[in-house]
Amino acid sequence: MSDSDADFIVVGAGTAGCVLAARLSANPASRVLLLEAGGAERTPAMTVPNAWPETLGSAADWANVTTPQADAGPVLLPRGRTLGGSSAINALAHVRGHRACYDSWPQGWRFGDLLPYFLRSERTAGQDPALRGTHGPVPVAAVSEPHPAARAFAEALTAMGYPRTDDLSGRRQEGVAWADLAMADGQRVSAADAYLRPVLGRPNLTVFTDCLVTGLRLRQGRCVGVGYVRGGVPRTARAAEVVVCAGAIGSPQLLMLSGIGPADELRSLGIEPAADLPAVGASLQDHPVIVVSYAARMPLPASRYNNGEVYAAVRSAPDASYPDLHLFPILLPVAPAGHEPPAAGYALVAAIVAPDSRGSVRLASAAPDAAPVIDPGFLTDPRDTARLEAGLRIVRQAGASPAFDAVREREIWPGPGIATAAALRGYLRRGVGSYYHPVGTCAIGAVVDASLRVHGVTGLRVADASVIPVIPNAHPNATVYAIAEKAADMIGVPGASTG
Ligand SMILES: Cc1cc2nc3c(=O)[nH]c(=O)nc-3n(C[C@H](O)[C@H](O)[C@H](O)COP(=O)(O)OP(=O)(O)OC[C@H]3O[C@@H](n4cnc5c(N)ncnc54)[C@H](O)[C@@H]3O)c2cc1C
Repeated sequence: MSDSDADFIVVGAGTAGCVLAARLSANPASRVLLLEAGGAERTPAMTVPNAWPETLGSAADWANVTTPQADAGPVLLPRGRTLGGSSAINALAHVRGHRACYDSWPQGWRFGDLLPYFLRSERTAGQDPALRGTHGPVPVAAVSEPHPAARAFAEALTAMGYPRTDDLSGRRQEGVAWADLAMADGQRVSAADAYLRPVLGRPNLTVFTDCLVTGLRLRQGRCVGVGYVRGGVPRTARAAEVVVCAGAIGSPQLLMLSGIGPADELRSLGIEPAADLPAVGASLQDHPVIVVSYAARMPLPASRYNNGEVYAAVRSAPDASYPDLHLFPILLPVAPAGHEPPAAGYALVAAIVAPDSRGSVRLASAAPDAAPVIDPGFLTDPRDTARLEAGLRIVRQAGASPAFDAVREREIWPGPGIATAAALRGYLRRGVGSYYHPVGTCAIGAVVDASLRVHGVTGLRVADASVIPVIPNAHPNATVYAIAEKAADMIGVPGASTG
């Protein structure tokens, strides 16, 4: 006998889980139970847009690290552990990938299929309403008063011949653009703020925080509920359908803990396989970054936004089918891991946003509270080393250009001694980090079908960043909102409103 029953159990109150819980509970006849490992607190660091780096390493962050990457050692891989999940600690950027990227996804998930859900989720103003939503729950604000170093970066890239675009999520998805951010009235709006908090009073919606889901309950090929620990007490909840929204790391981890994954590997950890699905945890994709650090002539003002403010989507080579690099500033004195940052300064970053490298998420043990083994495989495909080198050269050229004369004192890292191709590659292999965008570990086609149902198990879907088959060439959060909105429709509440 279980101690709480529902029609739907949603595991994880992150970007996707908040959307699913709100949309599914819009039907008063559906009882929805949302289970989240993190707490419900909304701290100042989660609300003030430029304070998001303070959430890293806090109670709201799982604070994972990867296996050693290239020559860099383990790199930080934060992910949200709180109502709102990663959308409550992220850098607020609300950007869509290039339509050509979605058009490489399986049938039913291409740009034209996703567009209604992009539109449904967001609330923009002043953009093309055929391509941008105007009435959705997530308010989107553009940067209008940029930081001096952000302005210098935009001017430098424009002078180098990169085009400006007024909307990377609109008609022209290439070039230099002021960032679109998920914020309103000077504050972050997370998925919890946009979707969940407004509906917490619904009698058919129950939300348990500080509640770690430890396994799925499977009976004869059907998922009938979950096991969880709350207040130190193990419990069980049953439902007609379980929707796993634990994110690109948490979802494959939970499936594998429950026997759904590579059977031999699971057996070796003492887990009885329930469905042999080798693709669970495979194909992890993330965007690798490299940072160039500068000392500033004078202390710089704080960013009024997300410490980024401007993004450029460019191609590392003319034959790239869509922009494969993001270039952006960090409006804080930062340096690559292991390097000393300047007292006053800023950084310029190149990120590969269409990588060929693939990695994996594997269990370290059968213990549900053990961190999994996360290997994004950065730079394992040599084409990615060439891409990142190209990006590094562009941002250094921009950083050295006259547009920065008023703010730049000098480049600190890698510094003028690093100039040859071999030296640049050594620097980026030692300094590679993550843009914090893991996806792809329960991919549509490989792990779930086009309706997001897990192959070989009934009553179980996955709907979050893990189902993404090819990583968007942009920050993923806007895409996860669209996926979750589409999932809500598939599960049976077409056109449901959060109100
Ligand atoms: C520091 C940082 C900066 C980022 N910046 C940006 C950005 O500017 N723009 C952008 O688009 N994207 C950004 N991202 C990425 C983006 O936020 C994520 O891709 C997106 O939020 C993923 O949504 P999700 O629903 O798949 O997972 P998440 O939002 O991570 O949600 C998963 C939820 O499941 C919970 N969970 C996991 N396992 C369990 C379990 N066993 N039991 C119970 N609960 C569980 C977690 O605690 C979490 O709340 C950033 C991410 C980070 C960490």
